[in-house]
Amino acid sequence: MVYSAEFLLRTKDRIELVDITSQVRELIAKSGIKEGMVLVFVPHATAALYLNEHEGGLMSDVLSFVKEVIPGNRPYLHNRIDDNATAHLGSILFKPFVAMPLTAGRLDVGTWQNIFLLEMDGPRTRRVIVKIVGE
Ligand code: ZN
Repeated sequence: MVYSAEFLLRTKDRIELVDITSQVRELIAKSGIKEGMVLVFVPHATAALYLNEHEGGLMSDVLSFVKEVIPGNRPYLHNRIDDNATAHLGSILFKPFVAMPLTAGRLDVGTWQNIFLLEMDGPRTRRVIVKIVGE
């Protein structure tokens, strides 16, 4: 069985983290699927998803890390048409999806693994697609 759903998020800053774990858990409960896999995907070339701890210090560290790994002060060619090359590079590096096991009706992830959307070209409205595959 496949359950498909999606929701929209409005981001506020150029670079920002949004914890979407509760929205995904609600959709899992709605789906009625107990065993299988959960795929979360953002159909955007300037955002990404990752799993990690929801702790304020670490979240700031993640944003600093993204800026450090992909410095803004480079002569990116894409910036000639669209001033967001760093966001595209971040989406390639950090990936626009996460896949997780679903066991006994629950996300089978670690205690410190929340699902984050990494906005790198906000503020924007982002679409989050969730596919739950199983039985
Ligand atoms: Zn662009």
